[in-house]
Formats: sequence, structure tokens, C-alpha cells
Amino acid sequence: MLDTQTAEKPLTHFKSKADLSQQSAVEASGAWTVAQIEALFALPFNDLMAQAQEIHRLSFPEGDVELATLLSIKTGGCPEDCSYCPQAARYDTDVKAEKLLGLEEVLEAAKAAKAAGSNRFCMGAAWREPKDRDIEKVTAMIKGVKALGLETCATLGMLEAGQAQALQEAGLDFYNHNLDTSEDFYRSVISTRGYQDRLDTLSNVRAAGMSVCCGGIVGMGESRQQRAAFLARLANLNPYPESVPINHLVPVAGTPLADQKPLDPIEFVRTIAVARITMPKARVRLSAGRQELGRAVQAMCFMAGANSIFYGEQLLTTGNPEAEQDRELLAELGLKTKQSCKTEVLV
Ligand code: SF4
Repeated sequence: MLDTQTAEKPLTHFKSKADLSQQSAVEASGAWTVAQIEALFALPFNDLMAQAQEIHRLSFPEGDVELATLLSIKTGGCPEDCSYCPQAARYDTDVKAEKLLGLEEVLEAAKAAKAAGSNRFCMGAAWREPKDRDIEKVTAMIKGVKALGLETCATLGMLEAGQAQALQEAGLDFYNHNLDTSEDFYRSVISTRGYQDRLDTLSNVRAAGMSVCCGGIVGMGESRQQRAAFLARLANLNPYPESVPINHLVPVAGTPLADQKPLDPIEFVRTIAVARITMPKARVRLSAGRQELGRAVQAMCFMAGANSIFYGEQLLTTGNPEAEQDRELLAELGLKTKQSCKTEVLV
């Protein structure tokens, strides 16, 4: 589990008069405004990066990178209509509906992830919300993965309070549920569940005592102001999420966002930097779309404060080429992994 974070705002870094008046506003309200976050986005790139670096080094003196492995335990056939998602049953994509994986299959994947150096094992299911009988099966998986010495995370859709409690009692460390984007852009992307539904699930997760993994996707056609509003919403959660996955849209044929123009990579790096500044102690995770960014942009994201990656997203087997490329990149950048800070076994 990560340290409990504070809601400190690094406003001593603002320099201009206008910025100083923003500082007073934040101190009075205790929350980030969208305008303040837009002002961060608008900083000269080097100033933004310097500010993000300073905060990152203060918050994570070891400078380590967390490796999380994601396993899809129930793929496809989802009744929701998230416009970016190939797992939605209503879109004609290459993803076909599959059954929930069995316990042994999940534990084999978790062992492989651990052997490859992962710290955390995330289990994802393409459900609108789990049924109680699904929760029973997933709790057995959580107990088994925990027993291997891995941190556990699950993303199963919307959760009722009692379901969150059952997952916590099984040993689940983190629950992932993304806000995806800003509230006003949300309806352009998803119509089958509301923003408030997502906030309710996050409340249930917090009330059950689990850590929150919550982020979203950028590059879906939202404006910079909407990206700022999305980050404000995350940063103003009290407390803000311990893990913040920032995905770069990967347009998938057959989904409504298949032809979406890619976000400028510099804007993506700015988004990472702003996430770091506004949520100093969160693990900011480079998630979907990372490979497409290329090595140089990924390196800039690490400079901007990213310190977690999804690693070997497929079922891991020996010689997984993506995991090997990741190891090479981290080694070239001299970045230690979270585990290697303690044991020096990886990279
Ligand atoms: S709820 Fe999850 S699996 Fe279902 S369509 Fe949305 S993103 Fe995809």
C-alpha cells in the first residue's frame, strides 16, 4: 500500500502576480480549480517539466518505477457502450466474448508476472458490474494472488458497498475504476452509465478501506480545458487516488473512436506533468497507448513524473518481447523498479 497522501498544493512554484492570486484562491478553497490547472498546462514546457520533476523527486526520492501486470480475466461481450472500447459487445471488433478464466489459469499468469518482476497483478473483467456469484470467484483469485506475495488490483465495473467489502476482506489492495474524462465530455463517450455512478463506486471502494486506482483516457477529442477539468476532478477527490493511470487513446477499428486523430505527444507529456504536480504522491501510470508513443516520448513521460507502467499486458510467458523492450528502456534510462529498489533483482 502507498503512503497516505496529503492534499498539499505546490503553489510556491507559481511566479506571477496572477499566479499568486490563484495561490490564495486554492488555499482558501483547498481544491484545484480548472483555471489553475489550465494555467499549469499553459506554462512554458521547460518550466512545467522542471516543476513536475521537483515535486516528483520530493515525493519519490528513490525515483523507482512500479511494474503492474494486467490480466483480462473476462474478455469481451460487455453491455456498456464506452466509445473507445473493443470489448463492448455492440461494436464490431476482433474481440470475442469469452468466459471468466479459471482460478488455476489466473494463478499461473500471476506467477509468470511475478517471475518477470511485476509488483502488482491487476485482474480486469469486462462487466457492467459483477454479480454476487462473480464476486465469489474473484475473491478466490485475489486470495491466491495475494498468497504469491503480489499486490492485488481488480477492475470489475461498478461495485455495490457489500461487494467492495467482500473484495477488501479477500485481500484486495486496489480497485480500479476510471473517471475516464471530464464530466462535461463524458456523455460524448459513454451513455450507458453516468459520471455519478462512477463516483459512487469510488466512494464504496474508499468506504471499504481499499486504495483507489482511478484515471482516464486522453486524446478522445476532448479540449485542453476538458483535460484540465478531468485532472481537477481526480486531484480534488479527497483523498486523491493512490494510482492514476493515464491512457493515451489507441483507436481500435470498429469502435466509434476508430478514426480519432492522435493527441500531440507533447500535450500527452504535459498531461503527465500536470497529473504529477496536482497529485504529488500518486503513482502516475503510463497505461494503454504507451508502446505507440515510442521510446523518446516515454522517456519524457518519466521525466514528467510517471512512475508506474503496465508491463507485459498479455499473459506472460518467457521471452515476452514487450516486457523485454520495457526492461531495456528502463535500464537505458537508469530507472530502478519498485521491487529492485529493495532487492536489486531487475533491470
Ligand atoms: S465497461 Fe469496461 S469493458 Fe465495458 S465497454 Fe466500458 S471500458 Fe469496455
